[in-house]
Amino acid sequence: RIAAVDGDATAGVHAFLHVDREGVLAQAAASDERRAAGEPLHQLDGVPIAVKDVLTTQGLPTTCGSKILEGWVPPYDATVVRRIKDAGLPILGKTNMDEFAMGSSTEHSAYGPTRNPWDQTRIPGGSGGGSAAAVAAYEAPLAVGTDTGGSIRQPGAVTGTVGVKPTYGAVSRYGLVALANSLDQAGPVTRTVLDAALLQELIGGHDPLDSTSVDQPLPSLVDAARQGATGDLSGVRIGVITELSGDGWQPGVMTRFQESVDLLVKAGAEVVEVSCPTFVHALATYYLILPAECSSNLAKFDAMRYGLRVVPEGNPSAEDVMKATRDAGFGDEVKRRIILGTYALSSGYYDAYYGQAQKVRTLISRDFATAFEQVDVLVSPTAPTTAFELGEKLDDPLAMYLNDLATIPANLAGVPGISVPAGLADEDGLPVGFQVLAPALADDRCYRVGAALE
Ligand code: GLN
Repeated sequence: RIAAVDGDATAGVHAFLHVDREGVLAQAAASDERRAAGEPLHQLDGVPIAVKDVLTTQGLPTTCGSKILEGWVPPYDATVVRRIKDAGLPILGKTNMDEFAMGSSTEHSAYGPTRNPWDQTRIPGGSGGGSAAAVAAYEAPLAVGTDTGGSIRQPGAVTGTVGVKPTYGAVSRYGLVALANSLDQAGPVTRTVLDAALLQELIGGHDPLDSTSVDQPLPSLVDAARQGATGDLSGVRIGVITELSGDGWQPGVMTRFQESVDLLVKAGAEVVEVSCPTFVHALATYYLILPAECSSNLAKFDAMRYGLRVVPEGNPSAEDVMKATRDAGFGDEVKRRIILGTYALSSGYYDAYYGQAQKVRTLISRDFATAFEQVDVLVSPTAPTTAFELGEKLDDPLAMYLNDLATIPANLAGVPGISVPAGLADEDGLPVGFQVLAPALADDRCYRVGAALE
């Protein structure tokens, strides 16, 4: 299937940056042997999976969609990858992404864009467009993504797949090349809510190698998905977020969203409108905190330790090599954010920008806390529009950033969220996503309500 549809940077879905043909066949054969020998098997043993190229894979290239890591082969596995291997899932390869997970369209990949399988002139979402497109195009039954401001959920929405951002700390970040440490979270990209539950249970759970990993078990996600699939939501209180609708929201997205809300009511849920007034500042807050963290994280790409090294002619100093390498190795969006973040953290501006953003972040968490006193879950459309045309927003960073309006608050507050397919918009016949957000450590609620909509 990958050979038939994936193509390359110029044509085809281009979900993969690297396909591990030999490795995956060897792992599949090993799985067959375990089965033949009657060994106890994990439920997902033998089910192939695709991994976003921001998670380290021992012996397989990991580029983060950047030229600066071209040719780098990590010496160790991310915990998520290790758990996948230990359970016997063959790894198909590494999926395309916006460079260092910065973007909403996968067009910021240094290796060419991924195309939306529904319409290859459209974006697959981002930054994890490769994982979502691989699942949507039947190139992989399961995939793993990472979500810092929506990079699992928004690609899920625009490709008609299921995407989950778990509670912050519920899935280990060890071996996840950091974009913004306080926001990053790895999670499942699948075709069904039950698949996502099985996958989160596999990759999640405490990891002593990640100091922010939560040392507390979550309620059973598989049970929650099964319970939701019965279609009975009696007793569940659901809040529609007032601030995530109105001007700028595509009518076809809102129609499908409203229909899904009606389905929840039919399933017995009690639905009310809930206001989260600070959410209107979430985007501005995120675009200070994220660049601040990533400007610091990306300092390690100094031409000495990893990947690319550009040595200018003459007798260059270490600083000259560093400058030339970072200039050639980083794309425009990465440079933009490094500059923004460095500015926001610089002395004299720190309090006005970064410090202020941290205060607003607290207010956003309080909005969630207040809302979750009234309701069990909050819902909204996952993204304001369906998949836009490739190139449409590439020269307009603000228009690109606006795509993440509905997904960003969850990252700022560390709460879990799921995007499930809600049908196709009337205007363009493209997928619409429905988002369910729950309190921290209550990921099961996302699965229950999400499964009720399938
Ligand atoms: N699109 C958002 C950004 O550009 C989110 C990215 C992400 O979740 N990795 O930062």
